Amino acid sequence: METISGNHHDQLTRFVFDQCPVRGLHVNLTQVWQHIVDRKTYPVAIRHALGELTAAAVLLASNLKFEGSLIVQVQGQGILKMLVAEATSAGTCRATARWNEEADLDAHMSLTELLGEGGVFVMTLQPLQGEAWQGIVELTGDSIARMLMNYMAQSEQLDTHIELASDEHHAAGLLLQRLPSQDIEPNDWQTLTALTETLSSEELNQLDAATVLYRLFHEQPVRVFEPRRIEFACSCSRGKVSDMLLLLGAKEVGEAVAEEGSIEVNCDFCHERYVFDDTDVNTLFGQDVVKLAKETATEEIRNH
Ligand SMILES: [Zn+2]
Repeated sequence: METISGNHHDQLTRFVFDQCPVRGLHVNLTQVWQHIVDRKTYPVAIRHALGELTAAAVLLASNLKFEGSLIVQVQGQGILKMLVAEATSAGTCRATARWNEEADLDAHMSLTELLGEGGVFVMTLQPLQGEAWQGIVELTGDSIARMLMNYMAQSEQLDTHIELASDEHHAAGLLLQRLPSQDIEPNDWQTLTALTETLSSEELNQLDAATVLYRLFHEQPVRVFEPRRIEFACSCSRGKVSDMLLLLGAKEVGEAVAEEGSIEVNCDFCHERYVFDDTDVNTLFGQDVVKLAKETATEEIRNH
């Protein structure tokens, strides 16, 4: 099987069908995906689901009508607690997962088995300017693609078909969507989605957009647009961590620094370390919160 060559890495490709009102998107993440999986040791089953969710986030974010980001989260109460992938209108993405790291995990566990009972799917649209919008639904379906299609069937009028795949080296996806307010022969839509389903996970992971589109749709000509590059980027910053500490409050932060000497916050997505020592937190709160915490502690001992 052909493998994708260097210049096809990390690209999002749009296409439209010439003879029916359907548009499509193809994405294949390689270096971006490597960047994500290199930072944490993910069990195979969780890595697989996270890769698919990341590809899906990139596909869905490219339909955003505003500047900002789209965040897809899968939350469960089983071994897997949370998968989260975020993609922006600027062509960046990031992703991470939380799970019970003590648990025994079989590589072939299904998503439903990983998530346990009561899982939810959360989609957040976060414009750079203005209010965020969030939709939460119960999880239905045993794959990321199935969950997303169920979600979209509930929330959107447009028919959408999604195929996703991921392995150690790739996170890839293909999306077809009926164009709004145009009639389509029901048979045409069925033919296209049935063709899409003939693609194996290996093919979706390993082939480039041109090969995938030719293999599936050589009898239904598609117009392919200039691909867009996707990059890994994390939006964490020292400023955001400072805001979080301010929310925690002077007492809690002062006590933590008095006890440990500093506060360390690690970003879940990019694993950047943010360390705040006593000078940092005192400057942040505009008062000597560490001294205050120490005095309070001494007072409490004296009163006992
Ligand atoms: Zn980060």
